[in-house]
Amino acid sequence: MKTAMIIDDAAVMRLRLRDILEPRYEIIAEAEDGVQALSLYNQCRPDFVTLDITMPKIDGIAVLQGILLNNPQAKVVIVSAVGQKQTVFKALSLGAKDFVVKPFDPERVRTAVDRLFAKTLT
Ligand SMILES: [Mg+2]
Repeated sequence: MKTAMIIDDAAVMRLRLRDILEPRYEIIAEAEDGVQALSLYNQCRPDFVTLDITMPKIDGIAVLQGILLNNPQAKVVIVSAVGQKQTVFKALSLGAKDFVVKPFDPERVRTAVDRLFAKTLT
């Protein structure tokens, strides 16, 4: 089973993402701020990450850059609030694989993550 790490400062959001992903993916870590996220990522090396943008200490963009610096192949799906279009574009240009806008439909999250591992990914 592919492993996942959920990064979001809102506990409710982490729980929601866990519920959506858990049947199909193993959640091996959760982080509630950017510092914890970078440290845990390097310990756990999950197969993919869901990453919030607005967080204390270090925001999602800096976390994305930090992860990709040491792990250029990292699979990161941005999960952002509405109204952050510019930030989402920036994240995609930096190397995020996809994005989901809150409030999200569970199926949208599953589709974005499943796509990360699709054999026909182009
Ligand atoms: Mg947040």
